[in-house]
Amino acid sequence: MKLAKRISSLSESLTIAISTKAAELKAKGIDVLSFSAGEPDFDTPEVIKNAVKTALDKGCSKYTPVPGTKEVLQAIAYKLKHDNNLEYKPSQIVTNVGAKHSLFNLFQALIDDGDEVIIPSPYWVSYPEMVKFSGGVPVFIEADDKAGFKITAQQLKAAITPKTKALCLNHPNNPSGAIYTRDEILAFGEVLKGTDIVVLSDEMYEKLTFDGEFVSVASVSDDLFKRTVTINGLSKCGAMPGWRFGYMASAIDELNSAVKKLQSQSTSNISSLTQAGAIVSLMGESDADIKHMKGEYLKRRDLAVDMINAIKGLSVAKPSGAFYLFVNCKDVEPDSMKFCSQLLEKANVACVPGIGFGMDGYFRLSFATDINSIKKGIERIANFVKEYKNDTNNN
Ligand code: PMP
Ligand code: GLU
Repeated sequence: MKLAKRISSLSESLTIAISTKAAELKAKGIDVLSFSAGEPDFDTPEVIKNAVKTALDKGCSKYTPVPGTKEVLQAIAYKLKHDNNLEYKPSQIVTNVGAKHSLFNLFQALIDDGDEVIIPSPYWVSYPEMVKFSGGVPVFIEADDKAGFKITAQQLKAAITPKTKALCLNHPNNPSGAIYTRDEILAFGEVLKGTDIVVLSDEMYEKLTFDGEFVSVASVSDDLFKRTVTINGLSKCGAMPGWRFGYMASAIDELNSAVKKLQSQSTSNISSLTQAGAIVSLMGESDADIKHMKGEYLKRRDLAVDMINAIKGLSVAKPSGAFYLFVNCKDVEPDSMKFCSQLLEKANVACVPGIGFGMDGYFRLSFATDINSIKKGIERIANFVKEYKNDTNNN
């Protein structure tokens, strides 16, 4: 059958493809340790589950308004004010089926054929594919590890053309963990002043900030507030990945209306039960659980960084946020696809090749998994690297 051109040129998400492969191998009885999916190993906090059980008993089973219930929109507005010093009206907020859906809708609503979207690399795997699917052209700015995986305002300035429609910023960053400071964001704001460029600020890992302070892009200046769409969700920091809860908030009212219109013809509202559960997290009722998870992630990060840096041939800097290590493997195998496929085949360890994030010579290891698996998995990586180097030297 001849499928539509736009779907034929779309690639499958590499993070999802690798986690699916690891799960299939596990189901066959193979002892695979998976560090591939960016998914918390923690269960959703009890207080959220209980609230949803009550909501279900009370008949929370009807359609809701497309952007979300009054209560969930108010809870998001409260959260954005309380945590991020952002003043959005509930009418400026739309809930979506995960932040992935927020981004997908935004690109569909914003991008015309040939419009350019600036994406700093390394980037989360889905951005370029979503941009291309909307007819746009991704324009990459490389942020290498010597620069702490951060782009500079000068690099941003040099990447802007008359066709630039949007800038996609994501901090704490997946996969590098990099976090921009207030001054760095202000400098981006100065470069963007006088343009029509929209900033899509993906703040999914906000509460997993280990070093430094997290600053919301839209909170830094009036000009940035006017041009930024703040995107967030509860899959990572709220331990609610399967619930599919994401949202976008912006002062660009015609963009909000466009997304609501698109959603009215596609998914309608997100699950009513998910909205009921999200309110509990947004209002801070699961903050003690979130604090506990953050403490555990921090211990895992420090252990994983030390163990990786003890392996000759691999190196990684301590990520400031999120729950990934983006490990340099150039001295072992610069082809990250080859490194990861051999690692899975020979050592039964699943990691994601850096090439999927736009940077070869690296691989991503998620430490959102229990500490024993981290220890065992990195020991396997150490043995694999030793043997890989021996094999290469002997050939
Ligand atoms: N942005 C980033 C940077 C991510 O890592 C993810 C991971 N899934 C998402 C957005 C989307 O998350 P979700 O759709 O689960 O809300
Ligand atoms: N965002 C997560 C990751 O990067 C989950 C998978 C996905 O949606 O890409 O692994």
